[in-house]
Amino acid sequence: MTSPHVAIVGGGITGLMLAIGLHARGVSCTIYERASGISETGAGIGLSPNAEVAMQLIDPAVHAAFKSAITPNGEDYFQWVDGYATDKLMYRLHLGKDGFQGGRRSEILQSWAKLLPNSGNIIQFGKELVGLDDKEGRPVTLSFSDGTFATADIVVGCDGVWSRARSLVFGDAYRATYSHQYCFRNVVPTETARAAIGDHRASTRFMYNGHGAHSITYPVAKGAMLNILVVISDPGPWAGSGKSNVENGLVSADSDTANRQTTGKGSRSDAEHAFRDWQACVKGVVSLLPEEPDRWAIFDMLENPVPSYTKGRVVLAGDAAHASGPHLGAGAGFGIEDALLLATLLADVPTGVADSKSLHSALQAYSDVRYERTQWLVQASRDAVDLFQWRDEAKGKDAEAFSREITWRFLKIWNYDMEGMLTEARKLALN
Ligand SMILES: Cc1cc2nc3c(=O)[nH]c(=O)nc-3n(C[C@H](O)[C@H](O)[C@H](O)COP(=O)(O)OP(=O)(O)OC[C@H]3O[C@@H](n4cnc5c(N)ncnc54)[C@H](O)[C@@H]3O)c2cc1C
Repeated sequence: MTSPHVAIVGGGITGLMLAIGLHARGVSCTIYERASGISETGAGIGLSPNAEVAMQLIDPAVHAAFKSAITPNGEDYFQWVDGYATDKLMYRLHLGKDGFQGGRRSEILQSWAKLLPNSGNIIQFGKELVGLDDKEGRPVTLSFSDGTFATADIVVGCDGVWSRARSLVFGDAYRATYSHQYCFRNVVPTETARAAIGDHRASTRFMYNGHGAHSITYPVAKGAMLNILVVISDPGPWAGSGKSNVENGLVSADSDTANRQTTGKGSRSDAEHAFRDWQACVKGVVSLLPEEPDRWAIFDMLENPVPSYTKGRVVLAGDAAHASGPHLGAGAGFGIEDALLLATLLADVPTGVADSKSLHSALQAYSDVRYERTQWLVQASRDAVDLFQWRDEAKGKDAEAFSREITWRFLKIWNYDMEGMLTEARKLALN
């Protein structure tokens, strides 16, 4: 008996986690990645406690690699400041010991990529998926823009918010839309940050809230740098222009043209304008942006959710399935949870195409168990940004209401019963 061969489309966080999880369980897989190497920005990312549990269960080496690449927060709290009216601390939520730490994406991904074997071409670069052919009784065929083909028993689309796997299988109607938020990001030397916002504010994770915008800062690069994210509300249509994601290598040249320009050239003056009436510390954060930062549109899957994460022998995971805004810091963590469950279920499938019943049951169990939690995150992220940006000023400014609203959402994300998820899905897969 042999386990199925899995083709993973996309070598971002979700695809890498899945490949490592499958490899650790003896399931053969290949990642097909469009880019020419493991490429992520140097911007920061924080991974929440649930993500750490999932990493441990995928393979303890994943968790160890993550811990070696991240930077401790100065304090084990997420702290929210009224950045608009008072510059006072509104609320602090305990993160658990060493919880929700951040690092530079490029460094975290590189440390994970090292866990895959060099041999066997487990990651194939320059392979942009353009076609899928899933006919019963034959392996699934993937075609790539360079004219080559590959076959597999299962295809997992981990190809992000503009997933080609998703549009090939479910159709173009299930596409991401503009959430009416865009962001600027930067990573600056801690010394520079201290001069602009003071030692304490530069030492640990803070969020600044107020009218129509918010900002998050946290240390990365072992404390040598501060990561800055500034999110601005933008009620109109996305007017991204200039550099498109094609040029960024973020989406393919023949992806959906209307929506793919999700990065444009911005100006620090846009942020200065948005924060013009705010407190000095937030203005200090904004002063740390470059003069012409990239403007990143935030697209999500709220308006056009896919009805299921699987069809035939193709399955979606991570942002391809349920891209959400970054406001609860959980998108990547949910992709890691997806990867854990898929790796577990696929390792249980005894044979390849010959035993399609158990394979389909496994894919359906994955979709059924992941759907509610991940769709909830898409909506919860929109609700959270409303709270952070004082869409309802009374609630935003009221520390008690704010703490109530934000605490239950974070705890729902962080305190997930990962073992329970695995048990439930395994049971479903057997039925
Ligand atoms: C500003 C911002 C801040 C964020 N902060 C956090 C945070 O602090 N914590 C958190 O948990 N999440 C955060 N997120 C969300 C997180 O970044 C995403 O959820 C996560 O990166 C998704 O990973 P993924 O692997 O599913 O998709 P992606 O990272 O998009 O990877 C997709 C991969 O597929 C490849 N690809 C695409 N199309 C094809 C194709 N046709 N053929 C082959 N390959 C293809 C791409 O090149 C890419 O490598 C943030 C997001 C943003 C925008």
